[in-house]
Amino acid sequence: MMTYSSTRGGESGKSFSEILLSGLASDGGLFMPDSWPQLSADQLKGMAGKSYAEIAYDVISPFVDEHFAGARLKTILEKTYGAAETRFHDKSITPLRQLEPNLWSLELFHGPTMAFKDVALQLLGHLFDAALEDRGERVTIVGATSGDTGSAAIEGCLACKNVDMFILFPDGRVSDVQRRQMTTVNAPNVHPIAVKGTFDDCQNLVKASFNDHDFRKSQNLSAVNSINWARIIAQTVYYFVASAALGGCQRPLSFVVPTGNFGNILAAYVAKKMGLPIEKLIVATNSNDILTRFFESGKMQMDGVHPTLAPSMDIQISSNFERYLFELFGRDSAKLKDVMEIFSAEGHFEVNAGHLASAHHLFDAARVSDAETLQTIAQIHKDADLLMDPHSAIGLNAAYQMRDKLPKDTPVVALACAHPAKFPDAVEKATGVHPALPEFVSDLMGREEHMHHLDNDLAALQSYIKEKSPR
Ligand SMILES: *Cc1c(COP(=O)(O)O)cnc(C)c1O
Repeated sequence: MMTYSSTRGGESGKSFSEILLSGLASDGGLFMPDSWPQLSADQLKGMAGKSYAEIAYDVISPFVDEHFAGARLKTILEKTYGAAETRFHDKSITPLRQLEPNLWSLELFHGPTMAFKDVALQLLGHLFDAALEDRGERVTIVGATSGDTGSAAIEGCLACKNVDMFILFPDGRVSDVQRRQMTTVNAPNVHPIAVKGTFDDCQNLVKASFNDHDFRKSQNLSAVNSINWARIIAQTVYYFVASAALGGCQRPLSFVVPTGNFGNILAAYVAKKMGLPIEKLIVATNSNDILTRFFESGKMQMDGVHPTLAPSMDIQISSNFERYLFELFGRDSAKLKDVMEIFSAEGHFEVNAGHLASAHHLFDAARVSDAETLQTIAQIHKDADLLMDPHSAIGLNAAYQMRDKLPKDTPVVALACAHPAKFPDAVEKATGVHPALPEFVSDLMGREEHMHHLDNDLAALQSYIKEKSPR
């Protein structure tokens, strides 16, 4: 059975259920599986005719423990991605769209909140519920969101019997669509909270709640943030699904991945480690380009955050990059810990030429400015009559930039991470067309909102949580 250890060496021998519920390791590191499961040539070939849920089973089952053995995981995957009960609005879950010969868009935005985070969070809710049922426990999830993650987490945990969820967002600083996606759900276990303050204030309140050990223990606090390993492997699935469709998991592909926290592209790396033929992985960033600069120079250098048209990629530090660095350092957790401590104290670190060369075997990177993003949205609208959101357009622009450097006969798949209607202003600015909300949310603007308003005040937050989820 798969065991997990912290990248920083402080925890080891953990089971899937343990790391699912705890998220971050206690030494500040991230959990990694102790080995990479290998899919056999027959298993890879066999994916060609399978459904999304069946491929998900092949990919995810080597990572789980006895709580998810056999039929139980299958049932959960069928519920999440199978035609009968899925909340995705496309039967293939993540459809491919051809843009040009050998250039494809992998559409990851057909879930309930119209961004790719649904693919993992729809599954995470079911996994949490099952693990908690076995332990006879109930958890309180507390999280902060600047937009996409909050609504995807809410939709994922909506039907969970064993989860109460409190999502903090900065009052007046998320878009109307994003706010309404959180506030119109109206489920008894879901509590959106508008905080008088910034996103950082929200995040600090969440951190302070976790650091209050008595409160954390009494409420059984938990997180579903992007470092949760289950989210990564849930995303690994669609790289196999795309490859099965385009070449029966035999023919190498290159993927271009719009990147913020390095979660989505790390999932592609995992696919490669499990045996999927992948030629190149292209990191696409906006002007918050800490990752692109790393792949150009081997230097990781913190910088301020600049707001862009692709806010879900406006990050200063890519938290999941630590997992890749751990791999790059040959799983030397002592070395990794040193480097992460230097980074946190000094705001920069550097890897040697050997490490950088080894990273370049698989990875390359490109940055895309706001002006180029708008240009690409306009271009693809003109060429293909397609409306594309800014995050997805960054991926497509990076694909154009890198195309000449990539092997000519390898198909390139650019990931499309959000529905254009989620970022209508940028799309309208580039094309003159206001993207319509899809039918399943077309009444979003008319639905009744339910939210709690709070000052930026830890005591007030804690008493609200205690009142709404008594333990
Ligand atoms: C979260 C998000 C990203 C960035 O993904 P990472 O896994 O953090 O690299 C890109 N685009 C959209 C629309 C997102 O919601």
